Amino acid sequence: MSTHPDIVPQPGILDITPYTAGKSGPAGGNRVTKLSSNENPLGPSPLAKAAYKKMAESLETYPPSDHFALRSAIAKTHRLNPENIICGAGSDEIITLLCQTYAGPDHEVLYTEHGFSMYRISALAAGATPVIAPESNRVADIDALLGACTDATRLVFLANPNNPTGTMVSDAEITRLAQNLPKQALLVLDGAYAEFVPGFDGHAGLVAARDNVFMTRTFSKIYGLGGARVGWGFGPDHVIDALTRVRGPFNVSAAGLKAAEAAVQDTEYTARCQQENAKWRNWLATKLASVGVPSDPGHTNFILARFENTETALACDAYLAKHGLIVRNVAGYGLPEFLRISIGDEIACRAVAGRIAEFMKGARA
Ligand SMILES: *Cc1c(COP(=O)(O)O)cnc(C)c1O
Repeated sequence: MSTHPDIVPQPGILDITPYTAGKSGPAGGNRVTKLSSNENPLGPSPLAKAAYKKMAESLETYPPSDHFALRSAIAKTHRLNPENIICGAGSDEIITLLCQTYAGPDHEVLYTEHGFSMYRISALAAGATPVIAPESNRVADIDALLGACTDATRLVFLANPNNPTGTMVSDAEITRLAQNLPKQALLVLDGAYAEFVPGFDGHAGLVAARDNVFMTRTFSKIYGLGGARVGWGFGPDHVIDALTRVRGPFNVSAAGLKAAEAAVQDTEYTARCQQENAKWRNWLATKLASVGVPSDPGHTNFILARFENTETALACDAYLAKHGLIVRNVAGYGLPEFLRISIGDEIACRAVAGRIAEFMKGARA
């Protein structure tokens, strides 16, 4: 850590452990398959790529500040009111804005045991206190969340389905959580993986019906636009109003806006990505289970592979890396005996299944 005697960050900032991104493998080394960041192996819609490229011709122009075209496209595809949508540089920015807007010193930000690490980072950056509610066998426990609420709770973050566990909580349970929160707390449902669940609206219906629930979504996962940095939020008027005052006027790039707009309209492509993912996720889960590596029923574009102990998980991680397969060590999420494996294309899924089978048969070199 590097510090200065007099020029010091706000309280909480130096308690932040910087976010660890999924490894990409050795620079300039052998070809690697990256299965560590839940990226779409098929990439974005060709229409999104074309829209992005076209923006190279007008890079001198500031992007629109109201994000009207993208909000309208999102609203049309998801059947929402565009007035209740806000766009950000990834949903990470929306999470940051929520913490900046609603949480500060003397406030608590609540999330679950294996919750996404940006919740903690953004809470600390805002000077608030992160509070962790236990999960029950890697599934969010609504009673534990409600039990952890206090007069100081301002935000409750819950990803459904969750990363890195991949597990889901029922709509009835989420509704119960929303109904029983203390009145000063806003429930934030992170729907980064919502599009991978057939017929699931990410609890948009619940958000529309209440004034204490907000939903975040991203273009980084099923839409394959992680590099473009676009996310969005949907919520009640009073939250959109407050966040809009805090966000930068040009927070999303012009190319990102255009690419996302094309992507969200290409519903056929999204449906194909959803189907391919489900097919290969189920295939991989079955294969791994057959060699003694089980996982919880999946709802996302990754599998949380369970090993008998931490040592075996670490050894398997090293074995895969040695063969050019980069997966995610999730010890930092309190899951040291697991490896999170993104669902790649067919070749990647077959490769990772084959290598794990070899490893489980005793191969270590
Ligand atoms: C990947 C992910 C996000 C998305 O982050 P972006 O900033 O939109 O790329 C948000 N929440 C969870 C739980 C995620 O896994």
